[in-house]
Amino acid sequence: MRSYSLIAPAKINLYLEILGDRADGYHELAMILQSIELADQVSVRAIGTQTIQVHCDHPQVPLDKTNLAYRAVELMSQQFPDCWAQFGGVEVTINKNIPVAAGLAGGSTNAAAVLVGLNMLWQLGLTQPELQELAAKLGSDVPFCLAGGTAIATGRGEELDPLPNLDSFYLVLAKHQNLAVSTAWAYQTYRSQFSHTYGRSEGVDKSIITETINLPTRVHSGSMVQAISNKNFAKIGQLLYNDLEQVVLPNYPQVLQLRQAFENNGALGTMMSGSGPTVFALCQSQEQAQALLQHAQSEIPDPNIGFWVTKFASHGIQIVS
Ligand code: ATP
Repeated sequence: MRSYSLIAPAKINLYLEILGDRADGYHELAMILQSIELADQVSVRAIGTQTIQVHCDHPQVPLDKTNLAYRAVELMSQQFPDCWAQFGGVEVTINKNIPVAAGLAGGSTNAAAVLVGLNMLWQLGLTQPELQELAAKLGSDVPFCLAGGTAIATGRGEELDPLPNLDSFYLVLAKHQNLAVSTAWAYQTYRSQFSHTYGRSEGVDKSIITETINLPTRVHSGSMVQAISNKNFAKIGQLLYNDLEQVVLPNYPQVLQLRQAFENNGALGTMMSGSGPTVFALCQSQEQAQALLQHAQSEIPDPNIGFWVTKFASHGIQIVS
């Protein structure tokens, strides 16, 4: 039976501002998203029985309907019942390299890979905009994972405008392996504590966080877009911003500790990705990233912290074979 193998990159947030509440329960966001080379490998295969089977080599990843890749197959089978009948069921195999529940869109990128894989497997000939429309039904981050590169994302995160390519940047990622932050908790807590600052560039009260870290002041996302357009790496590092740090850092001292370790050791900039708990540090070269990694590891010698050196990517889902 025919199968396709795909590369599904993770993402980080260079900028995340919560602009307001929406009637549908989501938040109105302004984000700048960046694909990175750290990626899962996802394969889709037609199988004889009319079932959906998901396999993954990571024990924390569910294999049932709660897996976003499973839901992507389900969506495609509902949208294209003739293909489902003609080609039989689908087996999805995920080789996980992206840390799970990390704020790196691991589940979303797997779902995006399934959409691209089934488009090939079922010879649907769907265009990129058609795939994007399906992706938005699966989750706010799925359209970006499909397209990849650097983009400004608005609405609940699904409306994308591409930005110039930044793929010469390196970064170090760090995550406490046993720590998970619920995305729903982070947004709800932000809403209950900070909704009065929605849309106010000067609205961040830094004093509530901590006096030991120099938390960035919220600037309009337009400044970051300009820095990206100018490929001004130093400025991009300075302008990194994430509203959710205001709720995650005071509640998760381990995340704050990683932020401080990166900040003290010469990164161009450091920030928590999405709702965390992964923290990243931007570097201008691979050598700088390796040096930063070593400094951070010696400053916090904890075997439960995972570190990764990777690079910005200019692509979303790629078909390998
Ligand atoms: P989000 O911000 O959407 O909550 P995340 O990027 O922080 O997600 P994910 O790796 O997508 O993190 O995992 C979030 C949760 O989704 C996990 O706890 C896991 O149980 C579940 N999940 C569902 N499908 C997948 C998948 N394909 N890969 C990883 N986790 C998945």
